[in-house]
Amino acid sequence: MDLAALLALQQLDTAIEQAVHARDRLPARLEARSAESDVMALVDERRRVEGRQQEAQTELDCIEAESDDIGRTRERLEKQLKTILSPREAEAIQHELQTLAARRDELDDRGLELLEASSSADEELASIDASLARARDAAESAGQRAEEAETSADQALAEIRAERKVAADALAAGVLAEYDRRRAAFGGIAVATIAHGSCTGCHMELSVAETDAIKRLPDDAVPECPHCARILVR
Ligand SMILES: [Zn+2]
Repeated sequence: MDLAALLALQQLDTAIEQAVHARDRLPARLEARSAESDVMALVDERRRVEGRQQEAQTELDCIEAESDDIGRTRERLEKQLKTILSPREAEAIQHELQTLAARRDELDDRGLELLEASSSADEELASIDASLARARDAAESAGQRAEEAETSADQALAEIRAERKVAADALAAGVLAEYDRRRAAFGGIAVATIAHGSCTGCHMELSVAETDAIKRLPDDAVPECPHCARILVR
């Protein structure tokens, strides 16, 4: 078994896994997502302010209708006052007119409040719109940067995969099948090396005797880690 070729294949497979992992977590993509959520937050905010403004407008419409009603009632009462009435009736109408005037004042005050609120909502909307335009621009360029980063990550990945195919094709089918079986069984790492006396697959230390035994294996034997059973390349 060509252990060096197997190790090279393992290194390529590990590089592919890392590249896929990085491709899914590109900082440019995270930035683009955050720029998009900035836009969404402003759109929500705009909707809230618009809702408030709509409520103010609805109330203003009611005030206007009630004011018109009061105006008509007052006209009618004033006409009535001009006809001959008993002092008692005249007093009652005067009282009613006073009540209407007070209500009109209340409505006017509330109407002013609402107009002020509506005008400050207008200002708020203008400022949100300006922020929204900036946020949309930022989201668009962040989106472009993310796409570019993904394209180049995809290219890099395609290059490693092509290299992996060449490396895999060079191996005998049986060896490749055995490698794939061990990779599936050992969390993606089928082939490990001994570094500083430990297996790089399971990080367990190998005794001097175990290391010696591996070194003394004939060339056609497949050395395995005594702890995790991964193929060990000396
Ligand atoms: Zn091991």
